[in-house]
Amino acid sequence: MTAWLKKSILKKKEPDNQWIKCPDCAEILYKNLLIDNINVCTRCGHHFRLSPDGWLGYLVNRGTFKEINENIQSVDPLDFSDAKERYVDKLNRSMKKTGMKSAIITGVGKIGKQKACLGIMNFAFLGGSMGSVLGEKVARLFEHAIELSLPVILISASGGARMHEGIYSLLQMAKTSAAIRKHSEAGQLYISIMTDPTTGGVSASFSALGDIMIGEPGALIGFAGPRVIEQTIKQKLPPKFQTAEFLYDHGMLDMIVNRKELKSILIELLTFFG
Ligand SMILES: [Zn+2]
Repeated sequence: MTAWLKKSILKKKEPDNQWIKCPDCAEILYKNLLIDNINVCTRCGHHFRLSPDGWLGYLVNRGTFKEINENIQSVDPLDFSDAKERYVDKLNRSMKKTGMKSAIITGVGKIGKQKACLGIMNFAFLGGSMGSVLGEKVARLFEHAIELSLPVILISASGGARMHEGIYSLLQMAKTSAAIRKHSEAGQLYISIMTDPTTGGVSASFSALGDIMIGEPGALIGFAGPRVIEQTIKQKLPPKFQTAEFLYDHGMLDMIVNRKELKSILIELLTFFG
């Protein structure tokens, strides 16, 4: 055995984290192959979460994406702290982990031959929660799109409003909705893509306001958790409640699109409405 081979085997003492188990079909998947397949299980088609970098690499023509408002950063208006950690420390940890300053990246890029304003949320940043910065970036994205007469594509992944900023987070629902209204009045298209999960105040504001509403297969989409609803209405909820499929069946989504087909569908939509 050559020295380098021995060395590389020895290096792998810790459990190999190059593999991931699919929660739907239990297949053990090699992470690099999964990334090549835009984080869709090669066996059953389960859609794993995709990072903003992954989305940009997949959807946007290489070298065309220009980020806007990248330096806006959250503050701690309520000096909030839970039992374990201060909000500012949590924020710093998330910024370090994701390399982002907030839970959304916004900018302008080209998809096929069409230019569009894009917002992509990152669930890895404090559960994709909506604080004042996220709301501000979404509102500014729509304002930017009005100035440039461009459509907006927004990919949501969120646990809802960020409790650490209290009422400031809830205010973002109204602010983003108002900006979307103006964009709509300017005659521009907004395509909302809901990925797993899209919940809480995000599902109840900007992500629910698309002219075209697209869900990813199997995505959890809803406002409050099923247990809270069951306790409130004292009724058992139907099976598959709050999945993209359930919402589609009940007219809340226009289509459910497999990630692999999403790019060509977006190009088609942008071309048709452009
Ligand atoms: Zn699978």
